Amino acid sequence: MIDTKKIIIKNPATGEIIQEVDVDSRTNIEKAISSGHSAFKTWKNTDAHRRSELMKNWSTIIQDNKQELAKLMTLESGKPINESKGEVDYATSYIDWYAEEAKRVYGRTIPANSDSKKIIVSKEAVGMVAAITPWNFPAAMMTRKAAPALAAGCTFIVKPAEETPLTTLKLIEYAHEAGIPENVIQCVNGPGKEIGNTFTQSDLIRKITFTGSTPVGKQLIKDSADSVKHVSMELGGHAPMIIAKDADIDLAVEQTIASKFRNAGQTCICVNRVLVDESIVEEFSSKLKLEVEKLNVGNGLDENIQVGPVINKKGFDKILSQIEDAVNKGAEILSGNKTISDDQDGYYFVHPTILKNVAKNADIMQEETFGPVIPITTFSSIDEALEIANSTPFGLAAYFFTNDYRIGNYIHGNLEFGIIGWNDGAPSAAHAPFGGMKESGLGREGGIEGIEPYLETKYLSIGNL
Ligand code: ADP
Repeated sequence: MIDTKKIIIKNPATGEIIQEVDVDSRTNIEKAISSGHSAFKTWKNTDAHRRSELMKNWSTIIQDNKQELAKLMTLESGKPINESKGEVDYATSYIDWYAEEAKRVYGRTIPANSDSKKIIVSKEAVGMVAAITPWNFPAAMMTRKAAPALAAGCTFIVKPAEETPLTTLKLIEYAHEAGIPENVIQCVNGPGKEIGNTFTQSDLIRKITFTGSTPVGKQLIKDSADSVKHVSMELGGHAPMIIAKDADIDLAVEQTIASKFRNAGQTCICVNRVLVDESIVEEFSSKLKLEVEKLNVGNGLDENIQVGPVINKKGFDKILSQIEDAVNKGAEILSGNKTISDDQDGYYFVHPTILKNVAKNADIMQEETFGPVIPITTFSSIDEALEIANSTPFGLAAYFFTNDYRIGNYIHGNLEFGIIGWNDGAPSAAHAPFGGMKESGLGREGGIEGIEPYLETKYLSIGNL
């Protein structure tokens, strides 16, 4: 039973308390689910053009409040303010995209095998959707679930991460201000496990959509099986980056930094293993070190900061233990490995760190880091690079750098990952399908693919014509 406690939201850059939010009781959550379920009939029958118009209003209100929302996001998540502004744009790009896609949910007719029959296939909203979102993208992870759900005609309830509920609460407030009915989009707060159980045990919820860690995702899939709910899972990653000997090294350095240090390395598509052809590793490493040492670490509210704090002590300890383990297994520290932290106040910063000659059996080469650390290892052939790249249960993002189209085509054909950047370290876009293979997930978010998981197929056979 969930009792009425508070979630205390702290600024990860200073440890200061920003706000307290009520934990919803199980009764409250069940009421919210029931009211979302009863709103479903009306919302799915609201014509798509009207739903689209309301979503556009929502996007406009978010953009009108961009500065305030970005500041709130930096306060609760620690990410640098310019990244928070970028995230507001990224978040509304999903609403804008799906406001258009709402009008393009097409069915089809199929030629029948008899004159007296007609076959019609239509698409319908799956029902009420429950979302569970993480702290690293408090706005975009919510809108890329809510937007296709609302566009398809589903009603929506979200549980944001306990670390960052404030951005989500604002987004919900703006949605209601935009005219989307209160019981069509709702937010509940509290511990993940209890709310996750309330969602999966409810027969009224027909779909669970989740972004977070692989173990929690697996549990949600198991728990959804009892009532055969639809599931979309965006789980952990362990992105490799292959830098071939003919690569444009300056571009590879720039894109490694773009991919690795966004949100202090706390994104699921951040490069986690840099694999460099042995013939260019010295040049690549020294150029990388020069650029990495220009990055400023500190409170993300300062416009000159590129690397903010890590989210909490648990994350901090994991990063440090991966560095220590790599060093114990022979890695050389090329740069960084400095920290600023205070257990009393509760803030934790890790300076951008580069590790060279990292052993393939080091923890950092197997487990997600979620921190600003670049481990470099070498390969002597593309097949060896591919073998290392694919030697993980994860299959979310992978990157490679080459200007040779035959090598590029070969690498692309052999990487077992859902998102691939070729000479590109920043592939995410609302108009493209984002998601992983293997244990990185199920389903895709974004693009024309991203609305499909919110739709059911209904087949009508008319006979006796
Ligand atoms: P992280 O370790 O990065 O915080 P989690 O997977 O634990 O990743 O958290 C992502 C989201 O999942 C958060 O909203 C969190 O509250 C929620 N969560 C955590 N544990 C569970 C669980 N057992 N069931 C459902 N949701 C959970």
